[in-house]
Parts: sequence; C-alpha cells; structure tokens
Amino acid sequence: MRITRRRFYGHPRLLDTLRDVASSLHERKGVTLLLGDLSMPRGGPMTGAHGSHQTGLDADVWFSVAEEYGAGRPFTLDDRENLPARKFGEGNVDATRSEMIRLFASHPSVDRLFVSPGIKRGLCRSFPGADDAPWLRKVRPWWGHEDHLHLRVACPPASPSCDGGKEIPPGNGCDSTLDWWFGAEAKAKGEAAVPPEEPILPEACRAVAEAPPWE
Ligand SMILES: [Zn+2]
Repeated sequence: MRITRRRFYGHPRLLDTLRDVASSLHERKGVTLLLGDLSMPRGGPMTGAHGSHQTGLDADVWFSVAEEYGAGRPFTLDDRENLPARKFGEGNVDATRSEMIRLFASHPSVDRLFVSPGIKRGLCRSFPGADDAPWLRKVRPWWGHEDHLHLRVACPPASPSCDGGKEIPPGNGCDSTLDWWFGAEAKAKGEAAVPPEEPILPEACRAVAEAPPWE
C-alpha cells in the first residue's frame, strides 16, 4: 500500500518471512495481506517519524486484509494510495487478526512485533495460558499500531554489526508491565513523543549512500 513512497525494499530474510506468512494466512483464512512500509532503496533514514525501517529488517503490515474492502478485483493504484486502514483494539481482535499475529510471531525468523496495548490485552484474554501461546511473548505493546503491526526479523547470520536491540523480558507480557500501558504515565509519554532527531549514520553506510545510481 502507498507504493508511490517506494518503501518496499527489504532484506531477503524479511521478504521470505512476509511471503511465508502471506501464503499461510491465505491458506488458513482465505485472505490477502496488505503491506505498508518496509525500507527505502538502500535503507537509511526516511522522512516522517519512522526511527526504524532503516535496515531492511522491519515491515508494517496492515491489520485490514484486501478482501474486506469488497473490491472483488485487484486493487488499482488509486486504491493502494487512498484506501484507509481500519483500526483494531481490545474488543475486536477477531480470528483473522489473531491468526495473522500468531503466524508472524511464530515464524522462526521473527524477532518481535509491535501492536497497540489494547490488541495485546485482547490477545492475552484469548490465550490466557502462557504455555499454550509461547509466541505471545514476541508480541509487544507500543503506542500507535491500532491499524498495523510492526514486524522485525532477527539479525541475519554473518551480520556482525547488526544490533538486535534489547532482549525481550521473560514471560508472555500479559502481566503488570502490560497494565502500565493503560495508566497515566504511558498516556503522558505517548503525548509527549517528539520526532526523533536526525540519526547519525554509521560509517559503513557512507559507501551505500554515495554509490552511483543503480537504475
Ligand atoms: Zn513500523
């Protein structure tokens, strides 16, 4: 979706993951995934508030699926630019959304994914046994993410400068750490969020940024 932004580039590990889950979800639920931003060509910082999506390991996936727009035909360019993404929350994490999130979180290449705190709490209610849903640990709450999930695949092998980020705490995250997201402190932090400052690129990126055009 929003393909004129040309943010559809990613590491092969990310692309394989998206293809795997898209085909499993289609097989199980008969629906078609809609993808948002991946990375720009060659990666790097992009305009807007995206602090991530720079390394080809992140993707945004809409919670809405293509069939729900009732077009009955492939989307036109206009559809892909303008169709609105539907929001989901604690009360409407239905079978399609649960299965989409479960398939991503269960995929061996996926390190973690982010959904809204409300969606996380809905999933915690649907899968109360931590042993029944070990994948739930990888599903992390974050501000926004009512209409899409943010997916990150693990650092690929033989990529020593790849930083995998903070370790996910033990447990499925359906505990008091989740309650925090519904309190005043989380609300204030969400409202105070300021756009991140321009990141300083690692030296290794210079050769990529200064390479001649490839088209
Ligand atoms: Zn994202």
